[in-house]
Amino acid sequence: MRTKLIVANWKMNATIAEALKFVAALRRHMQGSPDCEVVICPPFTSLYALDEALSGTPYQLGAQNMYWEDAGAYTGEISPRFLSELNVRFVILGHSERRKSFGETDVAINKKVAAALAYEFIPIICVGETEEEHNEGKTLDVVESQVSKILDGQMKSGLETLVWAYEPVWAIGTGKNATPQQAQEVMGTIRKVLAQALDAPTADKMRLLYGGSVSDKNAGAFLKQKDVDGLLVGGASLDAEKFAKIIKSFSSPQ
Ligand code: PEP
Repeated sequence: MRTKLIVANWKMNATIAEALKFVAALRRHMQGSPDCEVVICPPFTSLYALDEALSGTPYQLGAQNMYWEDAGAYTGEISPRFLSELNVRFVILGHSERRKSFGETDVAINKKVAAALAYEFIPIICVGETEEEHNEGKTLDVVESQVSKILDGQMKSGLETLVWAYEPVWAIGTGKNATPQQAQEVMGTIRKVLAQALDAPTADKMRLLYGGSVSDKNAGAFLKQKDVDGLLVGGASLDAEKFAKIIKSFSSPQ
């Protein structure tokens, strides 16, 4: 049985003060514990403050990125060693914005996943096709290739903890989203690729998330799909009331 998971990716939004205000508002809107795991991934500058603010709450902390080396001449980067001093359990890796704006490749993401697993973080690995690839009917090929390259040479230990987020690039922050059926088709294929590359029991334990313009209105429809174990939410996760509604759609999918 895979525990459902909702992840908030705040991207480059929210100061420390705004992050703390959000947590207070989320707790007010939730009134009680969620029926799933919930992870908040703020900018690095808010991790320390949220580590304290989330202590004793059901909400967990995640980072939006990480470098693979522990220390050294890598100006501007954050290492797994630094994150390990905080209660960071999850780390988003290979988000399409990092691929597009910062030139991250599957090879780099592969190294980040290995480093994250070595520190026992749970990597949330983003894969997905661009609009052009989508229109050319290449979605499944693109996603299969990303998954294979990221898994290549990984040690077996801890692999079952990997979380894969299918995020069609054309659906991120655009208000367009894949239909729940399209998401299921791709995510079912991802699980098959994982089973072929590893083994079926390991693939069955891995959690698959859908991301791309998820809102409080459409969350429930995605959650009804067989291979959708949760959601990676960008824009709508910045509004505590909407995010609380998305979390609650686990208990009562529309
Ligand atoms: C994301 O940032 O991963 C994302 C899916 O963003 P949005 O929900 O805004 O499309």
